[in-house]
Amino acid sequence: MASTRSQPCEALRRQGYQFFGEGSSAALKPCLWCKKALRGGEKCYKHQFYGIESHRCVQMTPTLRCNQRCLFCWRSFEHAYPGERDCTPAEICERLLPLQKRALSGYKPSPYVTPERFAEALQPRHVAISLSGEPTLYPFLPELIDALGGKGFSTFLVSNGTNPDVLSQCRPFQTYVSLTAPDRETYLALCRPEEDYWDRIQESLDLLGKRRSAVRITLVEGYNDSDPASYARMVQDSGASFVEVKGYMFLGYSRKRLQRENMPSFAHVKKFAEEIARISSYRFRDENQASRVVCLEREG
Ligand code: SF4
Repeated sequence: MASTRSQPCEALRRQGYQFFGEGSSAALKPCLWCKKALRGGEKCYKHQFYGIESHRCVQMTPTLRCNQRCLFCWRSFEHAYPGERDCTPAEICERLLPLQKRALSGYKPSPYVTPERFAEALQPRHVAISLSGEPTLYPFLPELIDALGGKGFSTFLVSNGTNPDVLSQCRPFQTYVSLTAPDRETYLALCRPEEDYWDRIQESLDLLGKRRSAVRITLVEGYNDSDPASYARMVQDSGASFVEVKGYMFLGYSRKRLQRENMPSFAHVKKFAEEIARISSYRFRDENQASRVVCLEREG
């Protein structure tokens, strides 16, 4: 009989997660856009906005642990890892390419996948530390990012901003911090953190002005899609390079907590982004309707 620790892994394995080591929740999973791009189809909005080649991007996380239980999260909160072992950065770097190869191996015979594109996908250039979980809870995150950089990968780090001390030590190519509410009360209700981390998130936002960075605002209709002026003020104070205003997608386990109606239309997302731009020094940069996302860029 499977141990309680391996049961969540089994459920996730069936969903395509590739784990870096026994007893660890460090994992990678190619995203939808990676697979589409491999077949010669559409690419992720990060290609459109920042030039990231979707089929050469590894989506991974060094841990699935998280200190929040956001209503809009696509992960299951039942998949906990009591007594988790943390992989070392060396283990993760060593297993990255073999695991990505294993994850993509089923695509090789497809008539839509050219040998050139498949070969490129097996030599990824980017690592998006963004799969699920909060990466700053992994104790060797700065070392991992440096090790990946040393191997020639550009790294995107996506954080919920609850650990500014860790974030301040990390040097990814681009840092994302999520800003999910215009005020503390909305944050506590929507993200259901283990403790009140609102002030720590503000500290993380303060780190963004000195590095290539983005504030990610996930709009959930009826929950946090009000008071654009407060968002604009926090974004303005952060000095981040970019702001992504993105609509919540009714996907994964979030469907157990929210309704399809909580997904804002692209028009709603765009109007909200325009309002932030109107009262800040951020200007429209690009948009992607399929992903319901608008990118703003700091002026000057
Ligand atoms: S912070 Fe991220 S991983 Fe954690 S619950 Fe929220 S959306 Fe999910």
